[in-house]
Amino acid sequence: MRPFQVTAAEIVGLSNYPEAAGEPTGAGIYALTEAIGSHGEFGGRGVHSESIGGFFQNSSGKGTVAYVFQERVERTRSAMQEKGVDALLLSVGPDLPWLTGFTAMAMERLSMLVLPAEGRPRLVLPGFEADLVRDSEAIMDVVPWSETQDPVSLVAAELGHHGSGNLAIGDHTWSRFLVALQNQLPTAKWRPASTVIGRLRAQKDAGEIESLARAGAAVDEIAGELQRGEIPLIGRTETDIAADISARILTRGHSKVNFCIVGSGPNSSSPHHHTGGRVVQAREPILFDFGGTTSEPEGRPGYCSDTTRMIFTGQPPAEYVEAYAALKAAQEAGVQRAQIGTPAEDPDAAARSVLTEAGLGEFFTHRVGHGIGVEAHEDPYLVGGNTEPLEAGNAFSIEPGFYIPGKWGARLEDIVVATADGPRRLNNSSHDLAIVEA
Ligand code: ZN
Ligand code: ZN
Ligand code: ZN
Repeated sequence: MRPFQVTAAEIVGLSNYPEAAGEPTGAGIYALTEAIGSHGEFGGRGVHSESIGGFFQNSSGKGTVAYVFQERVERTRSAMQEKGVDALLLSVGPDLPWLTGFTAMAMERLSMLVLPAEGRPRLVLPGFEADLVRDSEAIMDVVPWSETQDPVSLVAAELGHHGSGNLAIGDHTWSRFLVALQNQLPTAKWRPASTVIGRLRAQKDAGEIESLARAGAAVDEIAGELQRGEIPLIGRTETDIAADISARILTRGHSKVNFCIVGSGPNSSSPHHHTGGRVVQAREPILFDFGGTTSEPEGRPGYCSDTTRMIFTGQPPAEYVEAYAALKAAQEAGVQRAQIGTPAEDPDAAARSVLTEAGLGEFFTHRVGHGIGVEAHEDPYLVGGNTEPLEAGNAFSIEPGFYIPGKWGARLEDIVVATADGPRRLNNSSHDLAIVEA
């Protein structure tokens, strides 16, 4: 992003954004940032501003989020119209916090946002939780239900005539609620909400990229500690080391750990190894793949980190060094191919061809990457067959690997953002195979 100065005249221009202009707590500067960010950020014009938790703030330090959510609701509505969706229903999962800042509790009591193609969004939720959404009046009404009411009927009532139309429902919604809704609305046609909202979530704005970059820098520090031998490895169990890494993730700006894979020796040949009780030996590879969700000020969703680095506990055999060099070249090729307009399958093909040339193609058993944002895996998926072009602001992993069953494996993973200036890596710890004899 290229910084530039915001002039007073441009700030006055905020009257185009009524929600923001009438709000003295920082909405103005955020709205301006968003307005410019969404139209010009990747066209070469950016805003220089402080951002905390992905949401821009003014000098008073009090940010406001209403505008960004309002803007997301409008963009979602446009996508619904484009796809002929009459109403969107969101419950648990990352869509709702991305859209409104509110996170539904995953439990048997239903919380569900009803976003009709027209009219205000309405959030049906347990009455005793109504105070949790007090700050959301700007973007949605709350429909509280008491313990003796049936929330599914309330959702159906909120849908009105849309109840027999085309409905999109959050991918993570519990099936018990979807089944109950289907029983009450037998003529509705259903589709997953990701078909409407996935592409929107994939187009990260400047604030979101900032959050992802902070998340990346935080896990890079831990990767650096591992690579410098500051975290003892030999003689410890995988679980013990994972607990150590997890604690460091939490002390570095994350509110939770999403995963921490420590795959030592032959366990490095299992891409999603379940970290266990194996004791790390000298002279073997260890695969570290870890990430969490950043903590953000209340009412703002966190963003995910995800990185993979390899360590060898002693001098690696020539065979491993050679294979690792091919992996590093493959990862670099994948990253360089991640340009705006490139089909999403191309970085996969680029990385795969390097590994194939090195005789490792058959051991690269998964796609090269996944999108990342409020969710650890989301659109776009960088996989053979996905010909959708990468878009400005798309953030995704580039993580080729090779896994030789029962012997060893390796993976190298960075989060990358597609920008007008080319691919931008958000993970910048050393990409070399680190040798740690501790
Ligand atoms: Zn994975
Ligand atoms: Zn990943
Ligand atoms: Zn990972």
